[in-house]
Formats: sequence, C-alpha cells, structure tokens
Amino acid sequence: MTTIKCPECGRKYSDELRSCPKCGAKTKYVVIYLLLDLLFWPFGIHRFYARKTCMGIFTCVLTCTYYGIAITAIWGIVDLIKGIRNFKKPNNIFTEQ
Ligand SMILES: [Zn+2]
Repeated sequence: MTTIKCPECGRKYSDELRSCPKCGAKTKYVVIYLLLDLLFWPFGIHRFYARKTCMGIFTCVLTCTYYGIAITAIWGIVDLIKGIRNFKKPNNIFTEQ
C-alpha cells in the first residue's frame, strides 16, 4: 500500500481507496485516461476525465474548425505520452495536472 496526494485538497490517502476521504475527489486511473485519449481524442474526453474541463471544451470547439483537427491530433499524441509517463507511478494513478 502506498499513499497518493489528492489533487483537489492536497491530503494524502491510501491508493486502495477509490476517492479522497476528505473531499470525495475520485482517484483517476492512467488506463482509463489512455483509453479515452485513444478513442475520443478529437473531443478531448480524456481532458474532462483529468479535471481539465476548460481545455476539454476548447478541444471540442477546435476540432469543429477546418485546421483545428490537426492541432487536436497533435494534442492527443502529447497527452498520450503524458499518460504513458504516469505508468511509472504507484498503482497507475493519474496525477498529471
Ligand atoms: Zn481530497
């Protein structure tokens, strides 16, 4: 068992819990983040999962533009690399902010 730091309140808690006992923020898993990135990269669904709501909305809007989909494709690849780097962390928990 290892401890992880809550991205919302900063409190440390066991990685076996599915959410923070203090604020209730759900633990984010790298596997789910990567799957969302691979399947729905044009819509930025993985960014909503990683609590980057504004960037997720921006990605959706940008994909609807003519040249924007090229930019969101690059972002999808960059986010994929970020997600893969998180695999080194304990229990594959996504902590990238
Ligand atoms: Zn918390």
